[in-house]
Amino acid sequence: MSSSVVTRFAPSPTGYLHIGGARTALFNWLYAKHTGGKMLLRIEDTDRERSSEAAVTAILDGLKWLGLDWDGDAVSQYERAPRHREVAEELVTRGKAYYCYASQAELEEMREKARSEGRPPRYDGRWRDRDPKEAPEGIKPVIRIKAPQTGETLVRDQVQGDVRFPNKDLDDFIILRSDGNPTYMHAVVVDDHDMGVTHIIRGDDHLTNAARQTVIYDAMGWDVPVMGHIPLIHGADGAKLSKRHGALGVEAYRAMGYLPAALRNYLVRLGWSHGDDEIMSDEQMIQWFEISDINRGASRFDFQKLEAINGHYMRISDDADLVNAMIDILPEIEGGAEMLSRLDDNMQKQLLAAMPGLKERAKTLVELADSAKYLFAKRPLALDEKAYALLNEEGRSILSGVLPDLAAVDGWSAEPLDAAVRAYAEKTGLKLGKIAQPLRAALTGRATSPGVFDVLAVLGREESLGRIEDQAKGQ
Ligand code: GLU
Repeated sequence: MSSSVVTRFAPSPTGYLHIGGARTALFNWLYAKHTGGKMLLRIEDTDRERSSEAAVTAILDGLKWLGLDWDGDAVSQYERAPRHREVAEELVTRGKAYYCYASQAELEEMREKARSEGRPPRYDGRWRDRDPKEAPEGIKPVIRIKAPQTGETLVRDQVQGDVRFPNKDLDDFIILRSDGNPTYMHAVVVDDHDMGVTHIIRGDDHLTNAARQTVIYDAMGWDVPVMGHIPLIHGADGAKLSKRHGALGVEAYRAMGYLPAALRNYLVRLGWSHGDDEIMSDEQMIQWFEISDINRGASRFDFQKLEAINGHYMRISDDADLVNAMIDILPEIEGGAEMLSRLDDNMQKQLLAAMPGLKERAKTLVELADSAKYLFAKRPLALDEKAYALLNEEGRSILSGVLPDLAAVDGWSAEPLDAAVRAYAEKTGLKLGKIAQPLRAALTGRATSPGVFDVLAVLGREESLGRIEDQAKGQ
């Protein structure tokens, strides 16, 4: 019988889905798909102070945008508190855990003593074997696990290898608080077991938790899932990832104009590789992804690489899809609201016609929208500095000269327009660029744009001639 793989992504809803979490989710998703298994989603909302509904929504939206789906409904850890309590009590019944009535003052004293002796602060096990009949009146106890006191706890990690934790360092940690709520450590184990999780892939900041969690699994006689603790993402300079380095929520990447497919491809390469392959389709990632191929060393976040990969995905994207993706982010970019207000069927058609030229140059959807601004511009066009310089007296006279030849072109498309301008160049002895530059400035208000004949064709006869005329006469 082959048991099917179940992975899970277990974010704490204390903020957005940040880029490290997105990578963790991606790895779990890929492994589930790779094995024909499932990926479950659990919202770790036990910390009521720090969790919020808005963060849950942001995380779900982030996952959906990134194209990572999960199986079944998201599980709320908080709602499972009664079950966590039940397991903690069962551990007491089995003699694997016990009620501890130590007061705050006693705990403080223990900490003080440890400090003065230069030991790490640890609970000294004073209620471990004490008769519960001795329980003081009016104190609500916590439940502590009976951790092994000798030997070592072994975490067989698929990424880090075998990691050994001396049991003398694990004290009898709390699994149920005196208010009846579980600790995080305990809740995670009960949930992973009940949800049938077979593989845990998460950040290596949880590696020491894995040892304590193993103690709980063992106490219940449950199988420990396969674990893979993945190294953190660092900044390009090797330092801990900060906002400046890219430690942002995925919605920030969306707003910066990255495509979900490009981000998936970029993220999978952060800490995992398949030979020298940089660009890979979802199918390839799914086919190739193995937990044991995850690197042990920290990876570095590199915006330039992300941009290069995004540029690639833009170039291979379907034009109509790109038009839609660009329109989707207009509300988030400068001048985007104005562009949206001018968006009609005709503009959509123009965008589609212009897309092959536009997408060649843009590395992000933001750059794409920026380079499409000329389509939305209203006559007379505002000129940027370089365009203004190109439309000096000489530039304007070239426009006046070429204008009648363009107006006479039959069938307004790139080819005959190109031929007409070439003929004009020959006739006047001007270099082609000399004519194209003021034309581009007049048509787009800028000194760089897609090919000028494509721009003419996309704008159409009337608008093109109007824009050229505006500038020829100095507006
Ligand atoms: N909720 C934890 C976090 O967001 C993850 C815990 C786990 O994966 O076991 O870091």
